[in-house]
Amino acid sequence: MASDKGPLAADATLRRRIQPWEFEAFFDPRELRKEACLLYEIKWGMSHNIWRYSGKNTTKHVEINFIEKFTSERHLRPSISCSIVWFLSWSPCWECSKAIREFLSQHPNVTLVIYVARLFQHMDRLNRQGLRDLINSGVTIQIMRTSEYDHCWRNFVNYPPGKEAHWPRYPLLWMKLYALELHCIILSLPPCLMISRRCQNQLTFFRLTLQNCHYQMIPPHILLATGLVQLPVTWR
Ligand SMILES: [Zn+2]
Repeated sequence: MASDKGPLAADATLRRRIQPWEFEAFFDPRELRKEACLLYEIKWGMSHNIWRYSGKNTTKHVEINFIEKFTSERHLRPSISCSIVWFLSWSPCWECSKAIREFLSQHPNVTLVIYVARLFQHMDRLNRQGLRDLINSGVTIQIMRTSEYDHCWRNFVNYPPGKEAHWPRYPLLWMKLYALELHCIILSLPPCLMISRRCQNQLTFFRLTLQNCHYQMIPPHILLATGLVQLPVTWR
């Protein structure tokens, strides 16, 4: 039975898979580790083949490493559409957002979907604008949900035998908080999510500060999904 085994030894992606501890350390939405990890999938045209790789930041950010690797490998075929999906531990900073837009403008056959585990320095005005610019240029950006954690575990992680379905379950609250903040960014609203870390016990804390503009502009189901927000009652 497949579920009794880890990834098959014959699996060509095995050597490119990351270790379970790496996945958990990089993609836990409560972790604020400095390094970033990128898991990515590339699909050409109507082909069913999906090429999967992983990368970590070096002296350069993972996004820049990807762009340099992709363009240097010279397997670009401008006449064939190319779908790229990124699973990023941190959302792109403003400089990477700019580089991604330049990359996409030079390669109009490429579409990019980005799933992020966390929003990188999301209070920074430039980073917020960078993400908005990316979305406005056609890039899809979403916060990783349980289905993406499940997908990454099965396809990018060298999980132990019998642990195929044992992807890490993180509190849904964190995914919903980041999804809420991403909505604020998209709608050009001020930040409502503050995140801090207490060094002595390594715990990550959040604070939600909602203003009238948030209540007015953010779809109620996004606010209510956090389970932390009560909408003002209107008496008729
Ligand atoms: Zn960057």
